[in-house]
Amino acid sequence: MSFSTFVTDKAGLQKLYEAIISKYETYAPVEKFGKYDYKKVSSLKECDPDSPIAMTMSVKPLFFPRSSKIMKYEANSAGTSIRETDQDPLAGQRVILGVKHCDARGLQVLEAVNKWDYIDSDFLKRRANTVILSNRCDKADTHCFCTSLDYDVENLDAPDVAIVNGTNGKIYVQARTEKGETFLKENSSEPMANRITNDELQMTNCEEDLTKQYEAFLSSFRLKMDYKDVNERMAKRFDSPAFEEASRNCVSCNTCAFICPTCHCFKISDEKIKDTGVRYKSYDSCNNVYFTLEAGGHNPRPAKYRRWRQRSMHKFVYYKERFGVNLCVGCGHCAISCPVNISIFEVVNHVASAPIES
Ligand code: SF4
Ligand code: SF4
Repeated sequence: MSFSTFVTDKAGLQKLYEAIISKYETYAPVEKFGKYDYKKVSSLKECDPDSPIAMTMSVKPLFFPRSSKIMKYEANSAGTSIRETDQDPLAGQRVILGVKHCDARGLQVLEAVNKWDYIDSDFLKRRANTVILSNRCDKADTHCFCTSLDYDVENLDAPDVAIVNGTNGKIYVQARTEKGETFLKENSSEPMANRITNDELQMTNCEEDLTKQYEAFLSSFRLKMDYKDVNERMAKRFDSPAFEEASRNCVSCNTCAFICPTCHCFKISDEKIKDTGVRYKSYDSCNNVYFTLEAGGHNPRPAKYRRWRQRSMHKFVYYKERFGVNLCVGCGHCAISCPVNISIFEVVNHVASAPIES
């Protein structure tokens, strides 16, 4: 199936955003104290769908919340009974604006584990009911390395609609999935009349314009790596002392996992007051010393380097082996947010280039 492309400009795109916000439950990046996070919005003035690339929050919490009630119960001398849980506030039909391509890809990567041995119907329902409009960045930030990983940033089908800036103020709005195609057809009539066919895209200078813009984007990356080489080398270095060197400064704050679009460790905790209890599912991290602590007191990962080894091997070896994709999209959020400047890019490249212990 071939999908539609519309050519518009900043004013046309703003009109499209306004039309969407007025019609749908819409989430978009909202700035607060210099940081952006995705919030529900009721007007374009409240948000900035074209926010800077240095996002430190991913879109993940709209699909896998930071902390959510999964059950309520009553426990007393008569026994334990489950009470009805609240309606899922994230399960309705909605649109998210201003998602970065890497962040949208993160959801695609996460889907694999959410429909694996345990089917997480909450996550899948939220995904199915959401239309994602994603903006391709014009240039890379200091910690970005999305173009070095195992996905095609330019032709990605993780967003339903991709928005790419061309030259001379042109903006291309492209459907990337059937859901995106239907959505654009339903919403593009007034604000975006300039639909062009794929043939026209090739015949006009639009394709050349897109290629030129993508080449400029590619050349802006400071960080580059050969992920296949890193995958192979990491797989041979489980016992490398390089993990200890790379993780020495880590203070185990778990920030890197909480803001990562692909990390999905969680814990289950209960809060009980008198007879009534609530069970929560909340973010956790394999960097957390308590994450693997067993009831009997044994901890298979008592040392920090072992936890960092798990984190980086999971991202660049184990997940790839099981699901065929790296558990990292190269967004750089972790490096931007780490209080001691640890970068996953540096860690995996440091380990991958270390000699193999004999
Ligand atoms: S953010 Fe930095 S200090 Fe915190 S757990 Fe991650 S690597 Fe360690
Ligand atoms: S590990 Fe870091 S760079 Fe990779 S996806 Fe997570 S936050 Fe982004």
